[in-house]
Amino acid sequence: MNQGLSSPVQAAPQAGRLPGDGRRVGRAFWVMVQRVVVMAACVDVLLFILFHLLDSPFLAWMNVASVAIYAVAYALLQRRRNVLALVLIWAEVLGHAAIGTMLIGWGAGFHYYLMMFIPAIVVSNAPRRQAVCLVLLLLAFYLGLDMAAEAYGPWTPLNRWGVHVVNAFNVSIVFAMFSYVAHVYRNAVVHAEQRLHELATRDSLTGLSNRRHFLALAEHAMARAHRHKRPLALVLIDIDHFKQINDIHGHDAGDKVLVRVGELLRRTCREEDIVARWGGEEFLLMLPDNDHAGAQKLAERFRIVAQDQRLTLDLRAPDAVITEQGISFTVSLGVTEVLPYEALNDAIARSDKALYSAKTGGRNRVVVV
Ligand code: GH3
Ligand code: MG
Ligand code: MG
Repeated sequence: MNQGLSSPVQAAPQAGRLPGDGRRVGRAFWVMVQRVVVMAACVDVLLFILFHLLDSPFLAWMNVASVAIYAVAYALLQRRRNVLALVLIWAEVLGHAAIGTMLIGWGAGFHYYLMMFIPAIVVSNAPRRQAVCLVLLLLAFYLGLDMAAEAYGPWTPLNRWGVHVVNAFNVSIVFAMFSYVAHVYRNAVVHAEQRLHELATRDSLTGLSNRRHFLALAEHAMARAHRHKRPLALVLIDIDHFKQINDIHGHDAGDKVLVRVGELLRRTCREEDIVARWGGEEFLLMLPDNDHAGAQKLAERFRIVAQDQRLTLDLRAPDAVITEQGISFTVSLGVTEVLPYEALNDAIARSDKALYSAKTGGRNRVVVV
């Protein structure tokens, strides 16, 4: 943990991040630092007890000073004085490692705590040169401490058994802390991957699959349908006179209609159906195990559900016109069955033709081609 270095996860590429992501992940990093500070203070309490048991009161009381430093660092973190807190944490760890090593010797294993800084420095978004310098300085401190301990220490030696106990304690703590930090980083990476996957595959307004994801899933569904000789249908849906909804009630109201259509589609379709926002106010469904008759039934059911909707609005948009009954809308649907071995584009073009017929035929209807 290095002063002035921000969250390791903030170092991730900015592309595709949603507003608020950086802040949320940054908070997670500082929550981790706070937890590490609490853990470190607990470790010092344990060391206090351990050194009392080993009959070294001076070493024991040294840990009280460390706990006090961690308490101050924790309070600073609470007040978001992060840089100052990190300076204190660095000072405590370096000081504790140096004093512990000089008093008891290299064999006590206090130097292992220095290594805790390496992942924090490397994964932080400090400029690379600054990070390399810090790691080299840490290495110099580590090697210098080794030499100093050999040349001048130990000042207050423990018996061999005592050194082994302290070493085992320190190594165990460092193992536990590395495991915890690795776990936190892993969670952060998994979370970031999930967010990226979502951004790449989902439409942000409705939460449905986007066009690219639909195409990828559809290829699989078509291959499966051909392999098992099962029918497969497409339904292309377009909201009628959607431009008017925007014009009369405002763009936010239009968005609410799109969200509602997305929710209704999710409710109407099965788990195995592919439901996508195809473009502006168009939605495309791929229905495995459905021939044109089955797809027509679903389309008709959805048409009726849609026309029965009444959206009440709570919009602050100045151009929003709120009607007593709420906003109603209708949809037109084009249905077709995917033929064996035909290209997906051809099937989509056919569903588009069917949709066009539904529009020219008066809208709010289902046409099968
Ligand atoms: P038709 O019945 O022939 O489909 O008429 P329409 O008005 O629905 O179709 P048109 O293509 O003329 O208008 C589509 C409108 O959808 C225009 C565009 O501004 C609007 N639109 C596209 N994407 C969004 C969106 O994400 N939110 C909102 N509110 N409107 C959108
Ligand atoms: Mg359209
Ligand atoms: Mg439309």
